Amino acid sequence: METKEMICILCPLGCKMQVKEKPDRPGELSVRGQQCKLGVDYAYDEYTNPTRTVTSTVVIHNAHLPRLPVKTDKPIPKKLVFQAVDEISRVEIKGPVKIGTVIIENLLGTDSNLIATRTLE
Ligand code: SF4
Repeated sequence: METKEMICILCPLGCKMQVKEKPDRPGELSVRGQQCKLGVDYAYDEYTNPTRTVTSTVVIHNAHLPRLPVKTDKPIPKKLVFQAVDEISRVEIKGPVKIGTVIIENLLGTDSNLIATRTLE
């Protein structure tokens, strides 16, 4: 079984971990290098279903800035990040917008909404 190198991003220590599937127990992982149990949970998530929160900006008209910062309110599957960025790049909205406003509901069917991360008058 191939060993994957991973860095836990759950705290500033950034433990460098070695992760591989146990040959005699499919689905179970051997995790080394973590300094706490959170690293094991992170390794399982990252190994089986890696996700990312997407942050970006969209074009906004009638506001005092030309672009509105946005992010997904939940992480989405890592494999959909480029598709999500492409979708977000085509969005244009009209101001004003309040922080937390949903810009795209259920982005790419992920059950995650794209929301405004600041208010623009
Ligand atoms: S394994 Fe624990 S101590 Fe290490 S980076 Fe992750 S959360 Fe921090």
